[in-house]
Order: sequence, then structure tokens, then C-alpha cells
Amino acid sequence: MSRSSYSEPRIYWPVFAGLLALVKRYILAVLNRHYYLLLAATMASSSSSSTNLKIGIVGFGSFAQFLAKTMLKQGHFLRATSRSDHSELCLNLGVSFFRDVEAFLGADNDVIMICTSIMSLTEVVKPMPLHCLKRPTLFVDVLSVKEFPKNFLLQVLPEESDLLCAHPMFGPESGKNGWKDLACMYERVRIRNEALCSNFLQIFEREGCRMLQMPCGEHDKMAARSQFLTHTIGRILYEMEINSTPMNTKGFESLLLLKENTVKDSFDLYSGLFLRNRYAKQELENLELAFNKVKQKLLDKMIYDQDIDDSMNNKERERN
Ligand code: NAP
Repeated sequence: MSRSSYSEPRIYWPVFAGLLALVKRYILAVLNRHYYLLLAATMASSSSSSTNLKIGIVGFGSFAQFLAKTMLKQGHFLRATSRSDHSELCLNLGVSFFRDVEAFLGADNDVIMICTSIMSLTEVVKPMPLHCLKRPTLFVDVLSVKEFPKNFLLQVLPEESDLLCAHPMFGPESGKNGWKDLACMYERVRIRNEALCSNFLQIFEREGCRMLQMPCGEHDKMAARSQFLTHTIGRILYEMEINSTPMNTKGFESLLLLKENTVKDSFDLYSGLFLRNRYAKQELENLELAFNKVKQKLLDKMIYDQDIDDSMNNKERERN
């Protein structure tokens, strides 16, 4: 009895091992299934919220390069064309660079993002052979003024092309640590393919931008009083050659930072903010008026001070 009970495990061991293998396979199958279900769900949710877009960029300067890095990170496919040869930089980034504008337009882009300087917009876009576009395309301009590109692009783009005018209100300096809470203004000027337009806007939404939908004219009015004013003060401080001192106050440090950040942007950009925004001239005049008003208040105070001094001196003389 004791012998047979001792030998029992040996007799049933192969059966037990077989069962164990079956259980192991079952557990692995369940785990695998969960893994693939999870993967599929993730892919489905990401593809339903955004699609990888084919974005063609016109003008591959510093702002376009800055935007491109985030777009690539999000999985979009980028192509670019520009006045200068940026092919080596594009190769390093993973962007296809086209010297030939016809080939660029024929490259089946979902979106064409115009990122050239404000002042060169018309000379860049007018000669483009837009008949080479393979299908209706969403055009997006990201210029820092808005009424001017809106009016111009509505005139020259093919009627079947949609137009979104946008202004991400940040750049390589202010957006270097991410785009969270930074403003991105846009107007859906002529949009028929809503899904495509929303997909493009999601590039900014996904990074946490504050999305501001407003008419281009309203943007220009506000930007003249905020952005153009900021750039102007920054440029004035640059002309004054203000520099750091051993006794910087917090306020003065803000001025130094403003000066440094403003002059990193090209003068072409700054002059565009003035020449292509119909509200900017008035703001420049307001600035001059305000400066003269402040100056006059100081001069009046100086005269008043001098008068008091003089009358005290006269009384002193009379007493002596
Ligand atoms: P930018 O000096 O305003 O523009 C540089 C771009 O314009 C480059 O791609 C350059 O081409 C092209 N360009 C200049 N003159 C040209 C001409 N005569 N013919 C053809 N192309 C010409 O500097 P950016 O900072 O890169 O700005 C690009 C656009 O984004 C501007 O419209 C600006 O208002 C807007 N934006 C800029 C910022 C910012 O923070 N920088 C923020 C929002 C919007 P090449 O490089 O090939 O020479």
C-alpha cells in the first residue's frame, strides 16, 4: 500500500506536466489577447481623434523648422519648399525637400502651410503653378498678420481649395519648453472639409495650446496693440543699447529679456507687422503721443520745481 502510494506521482507526472503546459498556454493566450486588444484600442482611439497628415510647407525658415519638429513628433509627413536650399537640414529632420515647386505641389499634400515672411507672401505665392495640385487642398497660412493673407489668398487660390488663417502666437523662443497654454488664433475662412481642418487644428490642441477662434480683422486690431507694440518697445530698447548692470532690478531684467527676444526675429517680420497691418500705424502714433505726454509731464514738473527754487532764492535775497 505504501509502495503504490509512493509510486503514484511518477505514474501521473506526464499527465500533470501536460496539464501545466496547457494552463500556461491558456494564461499566455489570455494575456496576449488583452495586449492586442489594448493595442488595437489605442490605435483606434488615436486614429479616430487624429490622422497623420501629409503637410507641405512653403518657406522653411526658423518658424517653419520650429513647427516642423512638433509635427514630426506627432507622426505627420512633411515636405518643404523654400527660396534657399534647406535640403541638408530637411534630410536630418526627416522632411522631403523640393527645389522644384511643381513637384512639391504635385506631391499629393493634404495641407499646404504657408510660412514665408509677411513681406514675401505675394512674390512667393503668385508665381506658384497651382494647377499642379492633384486635388482640393487645405491651405493654411501662419503669418503674424491676418487680414492681408486672407484677402490675398482668397484672390489667388483655386476656388476648390479650403483656407484656414492661423497665427500661433509663439515662436522658437517662447515655445521652446512646449506649447502648453500658449495662444493659437485661427479663422476658418473657407472650409468645406471640416474633418481635415479639425485634424490640422488638433496639432495645436494636442500640445495644449489655447485655441482662439476670431475674425482676422479682430486679430490684427488686437495684435497691433499687443504684439506690434511689444516688438516696437523691444527694438527701441535695442537701439538704446541697454545692457545688464550689476544692479539690475526685476523690471529691468524683463526689459533686457524683451530686447533679446525681439531682435531674434528678423527685421522682415517686424516690418511686416507694421506694413501689412492697417491698425499698426495708429498704434505707433499712439505710442509717440503717449511718450510725448509722459515727457511733457516730466518737463512741466521740472519747470514747477525750478519756479519754486527761484521764488525761494528771491525771498532769501530779499531777506538779506
Ligand atoms: P521671416 O523672416 O518672417 O520669414 C522667413 C521665411 O521667409 C524663410 O522661409 C525665407 O525663405 C522666406 N523668405 C523671406 N524673404 C523671401 C523672399 N524674398 N522670397 C522668398 N522667400 C522669402 O521669419 P520666420 O520667423 O521664419 O517667420 C515665418 C512666418 O511665420 C512669417 O510670416 C511670420 O510672420 C510667421 N510667424 C513667425 C513667428 C515667430 O515667432 N518667428 C510666430 C508666428 C508666426 P528661405 O529660408 O528659403 O530664405
